[in-house]
Amino acid sequence: MRLTNFFIPTLKEDPVDTVVISHKLMIRAGMIRQLTSGVYSYLPLGLIVFKKIQDIIRDEMNAIDGNEFLLPALTPSEIWSQTGRIDDFGDIMFKIKNRDLVLAPTHEEVFTSIAKPNLISYKDLPVMWYQIQTKFRNEARPRSGVLRGRQFTMKDAYSFDVDYAGLDVSYDLQDKAYKNIFARCGLKFFSVNAFSGAMGGSASEEFMVESEAGEDIVAITEDGSYSSNVEIAVSFKEGVGRKNSNLPYEPFHTPNVKSIDELAEFLGITDKSRLAKSRVFVNPAKSENEKNEYILVLVCGDDEVNENKLQNIFGQNIRPGHPEELAEITGADAGSIGPIGLKNKDVKIIADLLLKDADELISGANKNDYHTKNIDLKRDVKKVDYYDLRVVKDGEYTTDKKQKIKITKAIEVGHIFKLGTKYAEALHAYYLDKDGIEHAIVMGSYGIGVERIAAAYIEQNNDDKGIIWGGEIAPFKVHLICASASKEEIVKETDKIYDVLFNGEKIEVLYDDRLDVRPGFKFNDADLIGIPIQVIIGEKNYKNGNAEIKVRRTGERIMVPLNNLFDKVLELINEY
Ligand code: ATP
Ligand code: MG
Repeated sequence: MRLTNFFIPTLKEDPVDTVVISHKLMIRAGMIRQLTSGVYSYLPLGLIVFKKIQDIIRDEMNAIDGNEFLLPALTPSEIWSQTGRIDDFGDIMFKIKNRDLVLAPTHEEVFTSIAKPNLISYKDLPVMWYQIQTKFRNEARPRSGVLRGRQFTMKDAYSFDVDYAGLDVSYDLQDKAYKNIFARCGLKFFSVNAFSGAMGGSASEEFMVESEAGEDIVAITEDGSYSSNVEIAVSFKEGVGRKNSNLPYEPFHTPNVKSIDELAEFLGITDKSRLAKSRVFVNPAKSENEKNEYILVLVCGDDEVNENKLQNIFGQNIRPGHPEELAEITGADAGSIGPIGLKNKDVKIIADLLLKDADELISGANKNDYHTKNIDLKRDVKKVDYYDLRVVKDGEYTTDKKQKIKITKAIEVGHIFKLGTKYAEALHAYYLDKDGIEHAIVMGSYGIGVERIAAAYIEQNNDDKGIIWGGEIAPFKVHLICASASKEEIVKETDKIYDVLFNGEKIEVLYDDRLDVRPGFKFNDADLIGIPIQVIIGEKNYKNGNAEIKVRRTGERIMVPLNNLFDKVLELINEY
């Protein structure tokens, strides 16, 4: 491609209102432009990259016998009501005002409605269906470019099986395909379990790329042996244990002490592990006949309650108590709550495993401005259930004590999910087994964000000059630069080199053939766009029978005799 024929509006400066690096660089390199908040136009260079990612995804999906579909984005509201997701998605779903249609944020419902009349016998199963298609989600305040768009391209695949054993097989196929896709895209990635077994046994795995631009928090180890979403991460930590002094518990005055830090300061101590933090949660009644369940949660003073772990124990709806509820249930405000002397005797008390049977604890006295000391959970509290409830912290060790855990940010690039029969049941997609008995089809769903992969790649592969492409998703392999555009002879020779590379060797070349642009400007553009191998033809080197090659990733400059140029280029494009 000759640059003079290619629309590639590069920018010297970072655009305003951009925060993350990939967003800045995609705009500066002329890959995308924002049309309106969260909605982007893909310019030719961006589209080349997105298509290469799609090609890799398609290749890996076809390798596991995926059948490619293309479903509409406009879908009837009706099917979303049938599965209840019109409410679940809420404001995320774009709803059409003058028709009873919604713009699909995902396609479980539509694929299942195709399965229903067509997959009717066990002989029709299993199948693996997928598409690469535009999704619409009304994301709140999208600020990270195509990492979080309101319109974006997703590969979404769905497996349909006769039973859970079949689902396991389909899921494993997708799992392997995902690993191939991300490796081929050149991402350094890892996967984390998104849910614990408590969620009805449904497995779910998220594929993550470590990045400051990420919105997920993960716990990982340097050697990759452990990776987990922080929501369910666990670590090794010695319990607080017992001191066995057997002192009676006793309330004492702690004026204006509201937080654990203030309490530690008041007491003049630094170890906060025995300052038991007490928080009240409410598990709302499921029907009018039931009552709200109130739960007092205790963790060590230097720990935080992991609300996701609470959800895994008590269900999705559990929430922190409101201030009025706290006063009513405990008799005190947030800073003065504890396990002893609660106003409401039905409060369930649970504590983090680190506090198992601990004594000499200090916690709120359920009376404002008072705390109680020498609390012995074994002796003084009638019933305590112990669970892992804390948020794992940076620098702690894995449960096998072998590796240090790092807490870091990550971008979710893909998600695979064992759905089970939820959608088949809601939309009546049943098949008949050998004996003519009806069963719900067992489904899995598997999503990947195309643009998000490109952005995640850039987050991991850039320097102060621009993007550093490599491998299969580089938009071009070679960036050919005529550095002496005022010399007709050099221009002609560079044209010839372009012809051999492009037409002869079939290499993807971007040729900066601009006659009116200074070399320095061309070099900056080349570094910004980030094509792996730059071939620079300048008068001085040319007269000495040489061309200069610059490797974008390493910055290495190699002087190559012209008669060896093509071999050297072929060698280098295989390497980078
Ligand atoms: P997130 O938590 O980041 O919103 P999600 O859990 O909503 O992601 P899924 O519904 O599992 O994502 O979608 C599958 C994949 O689609 C994600 O792994 C991601 O790569 C991509 N994706 C999801 N939402 C967006 C978006 N708003 N913009 C770009 N890509 C997205
Ligand atoms: Mg989302």
